[in-house]
Amino acid sequence: MSRNLKYLAFLLVALCITFVPVQGQVRHAPSDAYSKPRVIVFGVNGGEWDILRPLLLRGEMPNLARVIERGVSGKLRTVSAPNCPKVYSVFETSTPPEENGIPGFIVHGTTANTSMLRTETLWSLLTNGGVTVGMANVPATFPVKPVNGYMISGMLTRGKGCEDGLLCSPKLSEVQGGDAVFPRSLVPELKANVGDFLIDCARMPTAKDLLGHEEAVVYEWLAKVAKTREQQRKLFDYLLTNHPTDFTFFVQSCEDRVGHWLYPIQPFNVGYNRKTHTINVDAFPNQYRALDKVLGTVLQHVDENTTLFIISDHGIKPLREKESHDAHRDHAGTTPIIAHHDFEDGDDVPGIFVAMGPGIKKGARVMGLPMSVFDIAPTILHLYDIAAPRQMQGRVLTEILEGSNETAGGTHSPK
Ligand SMILES: [Zn+2]
Repeated sequence: MSRNLKYLAFLLVALCITFVPVQGQVRHAPSDAYSKPRVIVFGVNGGEWDILRPLLLRGEMPNLARVIERGVSGKLRTVSAPNCPKVYSVFETSTPPEENGIPGFIVHGTTANTSMLRTETLWSLLTNGGVTVGMANVPATFPVKPVNGYMISGMLTRGKGCEDGLLCSPKLSEVQGGDAVFPRSLVPELKANVGDFLIDCARMPTAKDLLGHEEAVVYEWLAKVAKTREQQRKLFDYLLTNHPTDFTFFVQSCEDRVGHWLYPIQPFNVGYNRKTHTINVDAFPNQYRALDKVLGTVLQHVDENTTLFIISDHGIKPLREKESHDAHRDHAGTTPIIAHHDFEDGDDVPGIFVAMGPGIKKGARVMGLPMSVFDIAPTILHLYDIAAPRQMQGRVLTEILEGSNETAGGTHSPK
């Protein structure tokens, strides 16, 4: 064989080795899925810049700081009197709460659930567009719906001891009234590998529970919150490792719940009670420190081809005035609260928005409130080149994309 022929033979063998699939090798996805963008949305329940910024300055949220530095950040305009099911349903549909069927926790006397949804959701549009979808702990996604992937429900999942309109946090084995996991075959796998996890954070203690036992109740309750968060972290890690999808949407639910009754307030704030509010003034900031660790786990699965969004449905601030409804009690009036997010003017409690990934500006900040909770679904659909249906009222956040000179509200890149 001439030298040239030998070389040709070598090339042919090399080509064959390259293209023949090795037996037993993991086949990641159908071939066309290779070109699908990878997007992870990390939802925070109540992301409050007033508390986050000092923690970032002190270097106590290194993971969030890293994403902010490498991406775009700003406030996320929310709806009037925002709450979790209301805003998460806007994230999913980009339609107003009164149109999409989920205007709050309770709809006509029944706890909000997915069968009430009247406008098409992001998960179904992505599924129909051939995008693989993975969701876990997203509020108001119970009972779960079939998707091109998996869905594990979040806040408002019904189960043992749940009364209508009250939050409860059933374990996976205690779920009642519908499926919390799609596909069902995933349930035994999750129980074996993650455990019988709590689907949501525990309900806040009542005034009666607290009276005379403040310190014990605060610490016991916070220990339960920490356990739930660790289970959620383990769940997210397991899913990202073993069930990677093109689009992934995970939500953390404990921050808000802690803020409602343990926000670090001063004696001049509404609802101050020395007995409860001096026990652990770090309880609420600690939730963000803990959230940052969960974000660290998620970041281990984010490569240079992944777009990461960190979003929250609203902020949370101390009570300061009497609003039109009874704002000082929660859970059917049994729990005293000192901070909330249901301000009539949603601009008082904007959420957070942070995005990082290919094609997204680096180290830029969007000023003002041009970005809204309505814009999340259209922006994600845009990344997948799927047209947003006409009923969606949000827009594509083009100002976060590289190459755009848009300064809606003004973007600026810090030195
Ligand atoms: Zn919320």
